Amino acid sequence: MKLYNTPTRKVEDFKPTGDTIKIYTCGPTVYNHPHIGNYASYIYWDLLIRALKAEGYKVKRVLNLTDVGHLVSDADEGEDKLEKGAAREGKTVWEIAEFYINDFFDGFHKLNLTEPDVVARATDYIEQIKAAVTKMTENGFTYETEDGVYFDTSKFAGYADFAHLDLENLKAGARVEFSDEKRNVSDFAVWKFIKPGEKHAMRWDYLGRPGYPGWHIECSTIIDTELGEPIDIHTGGIDHIPIHHTNEIAQTYAISGRTLANYWLHCDFIMIDGQKISKSLGNVYTLDDLIERGFDPMDFRLWILQGHFRGERNFTFDDLSAAKNRRLAWRNRVASTRWQGVDEGDSKYTASQILASVSDNLNSAAACAVIDSQPMSLSDWEFLDNLFGLNLLGATPDITDEQKALLADRAAARANKDWATSDELRAKLEASGITVKDTATGQIWQYLN
Ligand code: AMP
Ligand code: ZN
Repeated sequence: MKLYNTPTRKVEDFKPTGDTIKIYTCGPTVYNHPHIGNYASYIYWDLLIRALKAEGYKVKRVLNLTDVGHLVSDADEGEDKLEKGAAREGKTVWEIAEFYINDFFDGFHKLNLTEPDVVARATDYIEQIKAAVTKMTENGFTYETEDGVYFDTSKFAGYADFAHLDLENLKAGARVEFSDEKRNVSDFAVWKFIKPGEKHAMRWDYLGRPGYPGWHIECSTIIDTELGEPIDIHTGGIDHIPIHHTNEIAQTYAISGRTLANYWLHCDFIMIDGQKISKSLGNVYTLDDLIERGFDPMDFRLWILQGHFRGERNFTFDDLSAAKNRRLAWRNRVASTRWQGVDEGDSKYTASQILASVSDNLNSAAACAVIDSQPMSLSDWEFLDNLFGLNLLGATPDITDEQKALLADRAAARANKDWATSDELRAKLEASGITVKDTATGQIWQYLN
């Protein structure tokens, strides 16, 4: 397996640390409906997991759910996103978390994404988070202000390395909003204090006052608790590189001196009709919006797999329709092979070519071209279903007994050169959802879509 590794900016041979590959994915902040851009990343990482398994690796994968501490600005300013969601909907923060966790997994399952081995909710790790903050304080990496416990980034010499940050420029650019509380512009809160009168429903006592964790600390803590460092692969969106993941690395170093992860995969953003996904542009599509327009979640899944995680992608409904057509064409090939014994030819090398493409930095687009141009046997389709998760076999139901009888009658009519009856039966078959082609070796049916 070759993978593009963010810190080195190179495609490298992946070398696991042990028998089981440890993977961590930064999950959603559960305060609103995910849009299709949010789900794109989970499809790329699902391909990663399935490809590693196809190569014979065992995988342990942890996904976190952020239900506290992620402020609107991604830094340490603004409202907690969960509090914002609660105010918007007149619910408690706990109800908001519950609702949007279920909503997230509803889409996750519709997309046939592999269930993580551990789903870790930030608020279930508060005691471990407090212990982690205490540890990094003992190790001399934090300072306390009126606002909270801050991480002193000047204490970690490698702070700028991961994201290739230019700290001098960052300092100059951020001067205007540079809080007096911070010693360095890149410092960040690992624990926030709740001021008297401040509305923040999720609160825990620590250092003699009520408070709640900063956003980044949950990931370092959950990784330490559930996987142990260094993990093999850490994944997320490219927006996580300069702040969130840089801070995760710094925290883990401050807690244990350990490296957090050996490989970092970051996916680029999905644009819609050439524009950023945003409420103000009215282009925030959810998975259910696509379903309402007559698409199957698997059409979106295939559209994602037709591209690459490193490239910015432009989503259009025309392109989604093209992905749908490709999926249905593949489904028809499955049907022909499975029930009609259509042998597409020598498929000895197809599956290995598909895997070779995906193992080359997750180049699923190249694998799609292999599938379009090479013979596929039934076991190749099974292999593909395990790798791409498109459920082509499951979504290809057999025809009904009634349809089978119509096909038999039609074969008899054609043997008698009774073309009128044959055409009548074709019309009946089409009304029932399949069409029929006459070939030298007999009839072949296909789904009508
Ligand atoms: P948000 O809820 O907007 O903070 O988004 C959660 C995560 O989803 C972000 O950290 C990104 O990594 C990812 N994300 C947001 N928008 C997009 C997009 N348009 N395309 C791909 N990923 C996105
Ligand atoms: Zn994270």
